[in-house]
Amino acid sequence: MKTELKQIPISDIVNGFQYSELHAKGLYGLSGTLTIQPEYQRNYVYKEGNREVAVIDSLLKGYPLGLVYFVDSAASYNDGAEHLEVLDGQQRITSIGRFCTGKFAVKVDGRERYFNSLPPEEKSLITDAKMLVYVCEGTESEIKAWFKTINTVGVSLTDQELRNAAYSGPFVTAAKAEFSNTKNSLQQKWSNFVKGDPTRQEVLEVALEWTSNSQGQTIDEYMAAHRHDTNITALKDYYTTVIEWVETVFDGRTDREMRGLPWADLYEEYGQKAYDSTKMSSLVEDLMASPHVTRKKGVYEYVLSGEKKPELIVIRVFESSDIRTAYAKQTKEAKAKGVSNCPTCAGLENVNKTRIYKPSEMDADHVTAWSKGGQSNLNNLEMLCSVHNRAKGNR
Ligand SMILES: [Zn+2]
Repeated sequence: MKTELKQIPISDIVNGFQYSELHAKGLYGLSGTLTIQPEYQRNYVYKEGNREVAVIDSLLKGYPLGLVYFVDSAASYNDGAEHLEVLDGQQRITSIGRFCTGKFAVKVDGRERYFNSLPPEEKSLITDAKMLVYVCEGTESEIKAWFKTINTVGVSLTDQELRNAAYSGPFVTAAKAEFSNTKNSLQQKWSNFVKGDPTRQEVLEVALEWTSNSQGQTIDEYMAAHRHDTNITALKDYYTTVIEWVETVFDGRTDREMRGLPWADLYEEYGQKAYDSTKMSSLVEDLMASPHVTRKKGVYEYVLSGEKKPELIVIRVFESSDIRTAYAKQTKEAKAKGVSNCPTCAGLENVNKTRIYKPSEMDADHVTAWSKGGQSNLNNLEMLCSVHNRAKGNR
């Protein structure tokens, strides 16, 4: 990997600076060769906290700006042109660009001054200042490893921010415009089911995780394979399909507990089954209100599975010591009578009527269903063979 420390005058950086009011972000600089792409929310916070004024103040005082980091992504565009992307330093560059293009004023000697109204010597304090830039170029893993190191030195990046740096290019740019954009009106709806801060790339991470997993890949494998793609159709389609499936199956419910569940895994397992949405929603409603349900987040998979897995919604089903006791007692009595230790098998007229199951072939069952108030203790425990326990379900 190549890293190069450069000193670039502010006048070059802000040459061709473009700012999007709509997305509240700096777009380009360095005569169009630099893509700025700041994290939207961070940029917003910067403005809120008046930190953009502070950046200009420190330039006017001749203070250094600190290091910024660019990635040389020319190779991934492969169009013969120069392409640099800002990995860290977006807010500082955007603040300076916004000031130089007259987007805000700073107080100088008690008076509000826009860039154009500054005396020439103060103007040049800004435009002649040199930005200290680390430009790096290398393979994905090299860049990632390098930024991990920086990360520990103070620039705090999330896993997905690191991946975006490592696989920078048209695909990441398009994916960020969709999934990391707080102005995207769909974010509100997504946040009912997906946890994370879009500006820290955590929504994009979920979309990538869902889509890559559905294709048997890791996020890194997926991003490497699609790095040069200019469209994100497959990513968008899969993510949207999962979200809309959840909305449909649960009849538009948006319970707090639905946020951050592994919806794509559930979609892969239950997505092809037919459900009565109204019934599903009222089942969820009842279970949410039930004092027996101690694990509310498990309710959705529980109803999707046809109420077959009570362990999803109760933290403790039976103590393993109770299971061993019940097995020993049942097996001893069954042997004495010459019948199966599964009471259901014992009542049948087939080869299993006298079969003695091993502990691993049996499951603990509530005699009175927990949903009808049955307790998870020895008095309400009956061992059934796995087949009959499954057949009984939770009813
Ligand atoms: Zn049985």
